[in-house]
Amino acid sequence: MVAKIHSVSKILKSINLNVTDVRRLVLLQLMEPGVALTQKEIEEALEQELGQVDRVTLYRTIRILLEKEVIHQITIDAQTVKYKLAGNNRKNDHPHFHCSLCDNLVCMPQIKIDEQMLPGGYLMQSSNLLIEGVCAICNKEEKGQSQVE
Ligand SMILES: [Zn+2]
Ligand SMILES: [Zn+2]
Repeated sequence: MVAKIHSVSKILKSINLNVTDVRRLVLLQLMEPGVALTQKEIEEALEQELGQVDRVTLYRTIRILLEKEVIHQITIDAQTVKYKLAGNNRKNDHPHFHCSLCDNLVCMPQIKIDEQMLPGGYLMQSSNLLIEGVCAICNKEEKGQSQVE
């Protein structure tokens, strides 16, 4: 836990943000590899720690962490948007893999979405690709190269 708090402070420092309770706790909830949470789930976790959470503050915290590319926003379906720690690939320009067994979400930066593949005249502004399946850990196929971030 101490190591985690330390890396949370390091992340906030690296993007020139002061450490506040809400910022610290939001990142702390997302430190575990593969963990992605909805705003509601983050809010509930923070309520346990702080008793009460100002929703506007939480909303703004998530916005600024997205802007600074520290977390990624992943659309699961029309009702569900989740947030996860960005890891080494700060830019959210890659697909995400959703494991239907353990519910983990993993960044897949090795899969490139290539704008060149679009037909002539089409301009990409953003993409939101979610791959559904079974992760390497659940599939027991750990070949030492499963990139969990
Ligand atoms: Zn899994
Ligand atoms: Zn990602």
